[in-house]
Amino acid sequence: MKILCVNSGSSTIKYKLFEMPSEELLASGIVERIGEEVSYIRYRSARGEIRRTGRVRDHEEAFREALRCLMDPEKGVIKDPSEVRGVGHRVVHGGEKYAKPVVIDEDVMRTIEELSILAPLHNPANLAGIRGAMKAFKDAVHVAVFDTAFHATLPEEAYLYAIPYELYEKYRIRRYGFHGISHEYVARRAAEILGRPLEELRIITLHLGNGASAAAVKYGKSVDTSMGLTPLEGLVMGTRSGDIDPAIFYFLMKQEGMSADEVYELLNKRSGLLGLSGVSNDVRLIWEEFKKGNRRAELAFRVFAYRIKKYIGAYAAAMGGVDAIVFTAGIGEKSSEVSSYIRRLVCEGLEFLGVKLDEERNRDPEKYGYVISSDDSRVKVLAIPTNEELMMAREVYRILQRGSC
Ligand code: AMP
Repeated sequence: MKILCVNSGSSTIKYKLFEMPSEELLASGIVERIGEEVSYIRYRSARGEIRRTGRVRDHEEAFREALRCLMDPEKGVIKDPSEVRGVGHRVVHGGEKYAKPVVIDEDVMRTIEELSILAPLHNPANLAGIRGAMKAFKDAVHVAVFDTAFHATLPEEAYLYAIPYELYEKYRIRRYGFHGISHEYVARRAAEILGRPLEELRIITLHLGNGASAAAVKYGKSVDTSMGLTPLEGLVMGTRSGDIDPAIFYFLMKQEGMSADEVYELLNKRSGLLGLSGVSNDVRLIWEEFKKGNRRAELAFRVFAYRIKKYIGAYAAAMGGVDAIVFTAGIGEKSSEVSSYIRRLVCEGLEFLGVKLDEERNRDPEKYGYVISSDDSRVKVLAIPTNEELMMAREVYRILQRGSC
């Protein structure tokens, strides 16, 4: 059964086509710069690659382009759109309503739209992707997989903010958390790799990409996570500040004469690693400057790693201990010099907790089966590639199987 998994942004769609249940990746592709003068279309399967430029006006056209690639006589992997039985859509905000993936109907689409108030950058783009894909793949069952859903198990003391309770009742202002698909995937993978049941493990998962978040996964359930009402809270990110004193908002408005929108933009787009380093949001470029002795580059890494370390301490306390720490995503999972350096900075000083990193393994996690702690480390440390699309494909497959029973 062929299942397509889609991640739609405001100007990009990324997709992967899987054969299920074998989990074979049949093809993947991306359409970038949707709505601009020149758009990029890229596609890859075992039968070859396609690279094209052209004008792709909207998400509907983007899916038509994706379909053209998937059905290409030479490099395609399907002959007819109806071969795709299910389409999984990553949806960033599911609010309190969705604790599980759901089959998309008019009702679900309306709710995703209503939740745009909580994710103004993401939910409308996700919805545009859903509408576009529904036109291209008319016969498929479309499923929304929410980034917030895995964190639906947070207890009240972890998800409530200490503001008047009436505001929670009125607006549902609370911690939701994001990157749930990734946190769940790597927590499961870690248990598999360690050969132990997930239900017996207390795991801290660290999704470190351009967006970054930590989660405390106790016996398979998320019990705390660093992102909050929006993806701005928590760890230091590429361009986002993560945790700050909320009074900084007030201070900047007063002292700099900034509007609320301007401060919000500053904290989302001009802060984090970019703001600290003055170099870039990309750790690879900051690393180049760091090697030349750039003090602010070094400072950016220190602040980034220190924040993560604090969350590890907090989550170990929240779970009454920790059995494994998992690094993943663009920065967390790689074997590059900068990734190894960051993992070392994070783990340094955590020996009291039972964390002992193996330097050799940390340089090349894949070579050592993704476990980068030493054999006598009580807490296992892993660096695992995330695979959000595969996690989504499994969910969609599960729903389709249930439907046919
Ligand atoms: P993601 O959001 O998971 O795609 O991660 C994107 C970020 O990962 C980029 O902004 C880079 O900072 C970082 N990144 C990508 N490739 C590497 C690499 N080989 N080594 C270290 N960091 C990387």
